[in-house]
Amino acid sequence: MAELSRRGLLSGQWRHHSDAIRPPWSCENSLFLAGCTRCLACVTACETGVLITGSGGFPEVDFQRAECTFCRQCATACEASLFYPPQTHPWQLVAEFTARCLAWHGIECRSCQDNCEMQAIRFRPQLGGIAKPVLEAAACNGCGACVADCPASAIAITRSKNNE
Ligand code: SF4
Ligand code: SF4
Ligand code: SF4
Repeated sequence: MAELSRRGLLSGQWRHHSDAIRPPWSCENSLFLAGCTRCLACVTACETGVLITGSGGFPEVDFQRAECTFCRQCATACEASLFYPPQTHPWQLVAEFTARCLAWHGIECRSCQDNCEMQAIRFRPQLGGIAKPVLEAAACNGCGACVADCPASAIAITRSKNNE
């Protein structure tokens, strides 16, 4: 696991960049920021392009660009020992629907359900209205495949409240 870098700790880097989503299986954010050399080998290795160079030059996930396939190429590319082993949970993220969803505004859409391999999205019929998406949180692995194709940018990937 990552050793805390004295320089990283003293500079207080972990106090900033706290909202960013780090690569799957990566260690706690403060340890990650202290140990990451910003070589960006993980970003280069990412097969989908979901990893980007984020704030401060650290790698972070951008689900507006792509999904995570959990290929682990980011972890394999990292020489700083900042990733947990593959048998652990990659992260505690789930999808969340916001009020921008077209179904809330009377427009039929099921794009998110079509993109969800985990079948974590159901559509609940509404009396006299359009069916609305409902997340089966236990089935969602936070891959983000539902995000980019949502025509209303109505899906956020957030840290699961059940696992905090
Ligand atoms: S697991 Fe694969 S797709 Fe996901 S961030 Fe890492 S390299 Fe990219
Ligand atoms: S893809 Fe977006 S707009 Fe369409 S139903 Fe899903 S959340 Fe709503
Ligand atoms: S984040 Fe992935 S698993 Fe979760 S609802 Fe979206 S597509 Fe399905």
